[in-house]
Amino acid sequence: MASSEICNAYATSAPLLSRVQKLCQEFECTNDDVRRCANEFVHELELGLHGRTASVCQIPTYVTQVATGREKVFIILKGIALGLDLGGTNLRVCSVELKGDSTFRVLQSQVPVPRDVMVSKTSKGLFGFISQRIGLFLEHHQLSLNVTDMDPSHPYFALGFSFSFPAYQAGINSGILLRWTKGYDIPEVVNQDVCMLLQSEIDLLKLPVKVTAIVNDALGTIMSRAYTLPLTHTRPTIGAIFGTGTNGVYLQNLSGIAKPMDGMVDQSTGTMFMSTEWGSFDNKLSVLPVTRFDIELDVHSVNPGDQIFEKRTSGMFLGELLRLVILELYSDEHLRLFRERCQSAPDPDPSVSLWHRWSVDASILSTAEADDSDTLETLRSKISSTFRIASEIISAEDALAVKLLANAIGRRGARLAGTAVGSVIVQSGILSQYSIQSNATSGARSLVDVAIDGSVAEHYPGFENYIRDALRAIPQIGDEIEPHISIGQAKDGSSVGAAIVVLVAAHQGT
Ligand code: ADP
Ligand code: MG
Repeated sequence: MASSEICNAYATSAPLLSRVQKLCQEFECTNDDVRRCANEFVHELELGLHGRTASVCQIPTYVTQVATGREKVFIILKGIALGLDLGGTNLRVCSVELKGDSTFRVLQSQVPVPRDVMVSKTSKGLFGFISQRIGLFLEHHQLSLNVTDMDPSHPYFALGFSFSFPAYQAGINSGILLRWTKGYDIPEVVNQDVCMLLQSEIDLLKLPVKVTAIVNDALGTIMSRAYTLPLTHTRPTIGAIFGTGTNGVYLQNLSGIAKPMDGMVDQSTGTMFMSTEWGSFDNKLSVLPVTRFDIELDVHSVNPGDQIFEKRTSGMFLGELLRLVILELYSDEHLRLFRERCQSAPDPDPSVSLWHRWSVDASILSTAEADDSDTLETLRSKISSTFRIASEIISAEDALAVKLLANAIGRRGARLAGTAVGSVIVQSGILSQYSIQSNATSGARSLVDVAIDGSVAEHYPGFENYIRDALRAIPQIGDEIEPHISIGQAKDGSSVGAAIVVLVAAHQGT
């Protein structure tokens, strides 16, 4: 049942739910909204191909293919490489051993990135932290160099660095940070080569590791999915991340790239993966839905006016949006939210997360979506732990209010995510192959394959269905083409994909 319907059933008698119903309407993202946004999205993608200053800035990756020849490489490819994934929340270190038959063995460790590492005056904190984690990983798994059969003349592990921030690449192992996103703020790193900064810290610890490639996380996701899919399956040409932040990568015809590119471009395939950096889509707010909560969230972010699309779709922001809405409801004493058995309003308790900006994880939205029980017991306990509110004062009606609001915010985010995916499908030009392709389509082959990674995409129930709803609302896709789009998770795709890129690059060079 849609949230508005559930709410209607309760609203007439309960002032709280009646208010919730109105708030949910504010977060509606209608089919008209999707169409308007998709139109503008395609326009901005096009602008990004013409100049570097566009808000969807379209960074060339210099990776020009996923399909041709690579299948063969994947079959015979063996070896171990390290993958490193610096996300907005977590740092993952992994080793990947390709077995050469579409399977791989992964060892992985994950730690949250400490706040004082994300926001700091100097680069040393971040890159020192990362290299320490690499050292601990090698020690813990007792990885020694004799296990690699890659290249005995080079006594080091090759490391692929999945870096989930806008970085300008002039080659496979150089990435100049353009700007921080997702709450990071280390001014010293901006305009610096993050591969060199990392390598210096690795060398200080005397680790046998060489940063061989920097990979955008969305591209890494494409690579890891490409490796695991059966060869009969359509190769993924679009990658999308919905984790702390969001970004998309897609295969673009070279002939459509009008801006100059500084690096060496391999013209042989006629295509190149472009990193859209779609998190900053519509920074000028001409088409995106906007509520007063979006505005408040933006004003208090580290980058007001920037990453406006990301602030509606990704994990770092969805929990905060929910917190802001709930705080408004709580502040109205008459609505009695979280006041069961409380005769008078308690003074704000400084330990309660309801008052703390950025304290709420997006996982509460997934719990709210998943709990379909009558008593909403699981959600009540999640509300209690998330907002640090005693569970006795959370009524069933309170939990329902949170569920409906979480659904409205999550659904809007996921439909906008679908709008982004649909827009790059339109921009990629693949739809022009539809009539020919649809006749030839058989079995597992789809028109286009989309690889997805990130905790929001992985854990939010029904995320893919909402994406598909939005795809159907885009006129160029509609009901007819949407079923021909395959979408698949590439779990841990970013870290594993970075290691795979290293192995593929090493193998192609031999
Ligand atoms: P990273 O961005 O560091 O690669 P993830 O892909 O794991 O990391 O994404 C982390 C983000 O996902 C956080 O912002 C967090 O709020 C959100 N998140 C974590 N667990 C869940 C969940 N169960 N449902 C929805 N969002 C989640
Ligand atoms: Mg990630």
